[in-house]
Amino acid sequence: MAERTKENSHTVIMVGAGPAALSAAIYTTREDIDTMLIEKGVPGGLAAVTDWVDNYPGFPEGLAGLELAGNLQKQAERFGAVIDFGEVTALHDEGDWKRLETTLGDLYARVVLVATGSDYKKLGIPGEAEYYARGVHYCATCDGAFYRDKRLVVVGGGNSAVQEAMFLTRFATHIDLMVRSKLRASDVLQKELQKFVDQGKITVHLTTTTDEIIGDAEGKVVQVKGTDTESGNEVKIDTDGVFVFVGLKPNSEFMAGQLETDEIGLIKTDENLMSSMKGVFVAGDIRSGATMQVASAVGEGATAALKIREYLEGHVNIQEEV
Ligand SMILES: Cc1cc2nc3c(=O)[nH]c(=O)nc-3n(C[C@H](O)[C@H](O)[C@H](O)COP(=O)(O)OP(=O)(O)OC[C@H]3O[C@@H](n4cnc5c(N)ncnc54)[C@H](O)[C@@H]3O)c2cc1C
Repeated sequence: MAERTKENSHTVIMVGAGPAALSAAIYTTREDIDTMLIEKGVPGGLAAVTDWVDNYPGFPEGLAGLELAGNLQKQAERFGAVIDFGEVTALHDEGDWKRLETTLGDLYARVVLVATGSDYKKLGIPGEAEYYARGVHYCATCDGAFYRDKRLVVVGGGNSAVQEAMFLTRFATHIDLMVRSKLRASDVLQKELQKFVDQGKITVHLTTTTDEIIGDAEGKVVQVKGTDTESGNEVKIDTDGVFVFVGLKPNSEFMAGQLETDEIGLIKTDENLMSSMKGVFVAGDIRSGATMQVASAVGEGATAALKIREYLEGHVNIQEEV
């Protein structure tokens, strides 16, 4: 364990540099609050790997995810935010200071903002990575509108899959819902789903695995191959796109047991976006109750920054040398 020094200490350390943390950093650094962000992947987070963001307010034509991410990063850096590349592997409460174990060594902060996001669980089948965001999607609110009057396959049998399949009927002409075993969605949702099945808008394929996503010469998704596990027969479904809803993997493992989480591992907060550990705030997709949108992550980042300022004013002298 490294001792705390001036060099490894910051007033605020933000874990992750996605839209939530970058927005928070714009606010904290603009108010001269010493802020460091530590990012294990790409600044901009999931927004940076999103092909096109059509629903971010203020951009009437939409914009490339990479451009949005780049702009957020530039704006935060303009005010003095420092982004270091590394991974936070553990978090410890040492009273007025929090100690973060990272691949860059131990770091100390008065306040920590956890903005590590969540990953969508993948199927791990051929074609999934190849057509990622170009025919294979994980967010209906984000990408459903690209499939007006098209056919879609939805993979999954839980609440999210059923809910999102019904939502996608607003755009798609028909949905094939591929369920590996049986439906696990609530009774209420299953009853609702039945209405769409009766109207011919959704076809449910139970006991059907999804084995491969196939594209054409132009790189467009055209078919999904699966297997009916009861008969052993191959199932081929022609489609224009695939939406996968087989669960979320919150990036909260590094603080396992330290912060209170909900049943899927998203971190619980109070009305000030503070977690169960005093001085540790949470914003964006990793927060229990998050709506998993860039606009919401940005809004929560700004709110967290203002709450952090309030907390610092109330608890420690922010002018005090770290
Ligand atoms: C394919 C796709 C398309 C999407 N399209 C849209 C859309 O059109 N509109 C929309 O509003 N939303 C869309 N979203 C959702 C949107 O991208 C997210 O809601 C948003 O990026 C969440 O921001 P965040 O900052 O909370 O988390 P993230 O963007 O997930 O950023 C978290 C960051 O933390 C880093 N990190 C994680 N753990 C650690 C650690 N231990 N140490 C250091 N760093 C760590 C990660 O590398 C990541 O960069 C889409 C998502 C996907 C996957």
